Amino acid sequence: MQEEQTKTVKRQNGEFLMQWFNMKKFNISIIVMDTMRLDTFNTISRTKGMELSKVGNFTYFDNCIAPSTWTLPSAASLFTGKYASGHGAHESKNIKCLDIDKIKLKSKTFVSDLNDLGYHTYAISANPYVHPVYGFTEFGSFIEESYFTDVFGSVVEVSRKIKPMIAKYRSMYGTDLLKISTAMLREDPNLFFEAVATSAVLTPLAIIKKLKAQLIENWPVEKGGKRMVSTSKKLELKEPFFLFINFMEPHDPYVGAPGKDFNWCTSFLKKKVDGKLLELWKKLYYKASLRCYKYTLEVIKDLVKRFGNDQMILLVSDHGQSFNEHGFVGHGTMLYDEIVKVPFVAMLPKGFEGAKSQQYMSLANVREFIFLALKGDKKAARKLYSKNVRAEAFGLPSNISFVKGLDPQKLRKWDKPRTRIFN
Ligand SMILES: [Zn+2]
Repeated sequence: MQEEQTKTVKRQNGEFLMQWFNMKKFNISIIVMDTMRLDTFNTISRTKGMELSKVGNFTYFDNCIAPSTWTLPSAASLFTGKYASGHGAHESKNIKCLDIDKIKLKSKTFVSDLNDLGYHTYAISANPYVHPVYGFTEFGSFIEESYFTDVFGSVVEVSRKIKPMIAKYRSMYGTDLLKISTAMLREDPNLFFEAVATSAVLTPLAIIKKLKAQLIENWPVEKGGKRMVSTSKKLELKEPFFLFINFMEPHDPYVGAPGKDFNWCTSFLKKKVDGKLLELWKKLYYKASLRCYKYTLEVIKDLVKRFGNDQMILLVSDHGQSFNEHGFVGHGTMLYDEIVKVPFVAMLPKGFEGAKSQQYMSLANVREFIFLALKGDKKAARKLYSKNVRAEAFGLPSNISFVKGLDPQKLRKWDKPRTRIFN
């Protein structure tokens, strides 16, 4: 850990970023348990023998609201300190999650500020939306650890980059997509999964799922977390560091068989949700959340073992998951408690105080909190709260127009912008 008496940080364009005194560059980690609901997290983390107090001095902040209802806008808020309406990386009536150039994050984030301050910045992500393709380009080191994607349906458009490889295998295997995909995967996994994540993929979702099932043991409850833990343990973190990890286990799918999982369009179908399937999803969601929590504990234990207790570790979730409590399954679009109330637990560097408040807190306040703490304000945690906290949604994150059996009434009712204020 480094301490500096006076520090003036100059950005490349000559603008002064900050002038700080007695700055202490503590190590910072943010671990996202994607899709972890607050109630599920509380049940799991308060189970005997599983408590966070066993691994470090953690403070629970129970009033955290996710600024958005799905990964991209929510993560963008965490990193920019702005709500989605401010940073712009969100869905709309006409812009959906696969319109990458239009929806990706275009604002600078605090990762650049940390780079400027001399931090070494690392990310390990299993979520294709927290990825350089979607604008998260500022990390010194970005490790994509999983094949998870929710690319929807058959997209036969092929990107220029992978065309030569596809052409080669197409001449060998004709129209057998599974064979073509498997061969491509073998030759260049990164290129193949980049193609998947950017939607420029040549296979239907079913084939991608088959491939994933072959590649990850216990898919789909396991979504790469096991390997991410070992990657993070092996990572030679240069101090001071900022480490970001995005686990994916609690995210759907849960069953991994055709027609047995829900997706963006489930709540918009005329067909009612099958009660037995719903129970199965809930059971598997809990199982996957538990798995994710255990992975998180392993990462934290390792960080504490390597760097001690004088560091900042934030354990959060980007949004929750709804299981038909209000006639809606999944996340995105709606702003129910099950979707927007998320866990937020923090290990603070030595001498820093937690904060109790009747107010709500937001992931959009994390940026300000971190930089105030870096300036030496021991009470920086109070900045996590604000008088007014918002959750925003702008409609369906995904384009489902080609799906059969949609209920136009539900689409009219739900596929539109909404804001919920917490105060
Ligand atoms: Zn997410």
